[in-house]
Amino acid sequence: MSKPRILSRFDKKMIRQDGKRFYCRVDIYPANNMLDKPQRSMATFDHLFPKGHPLANRKTSGQERDKAVLACFGCNKDRGSAPWEEFYKLKVNG
Ligand SMILES: [Zn+2]
Repeated sequence: MSKPRILSRFDKKMIRQDGKRFYCRVDIYPANNMLDKPQRSMATFDHLFPKGHPLANRKTSGQERDKAVLACFGCNKDRGSAPWEEFYKLKVNG
């Protein structure tokens, strides 16, 4: 039996990203296991803007107080300090 649990910040982002990592689009959770066995090590919070950037902490309609996405360690590391849009395009276009 699974009992309902409160969605965490991680869960909400995961749902918004359709269960996939932001850049490489790999599933964060194994299929059919989304609410059962979180594998948080599969994804990390990747902050789109570096600290101190004007957009870093801007609030958007009260929904999301931070500008972070879920990405794997690899993408997070590969992007480094490159603008996320550029890195995203690179990944999407191969
Ligand atoms: Zn990735």
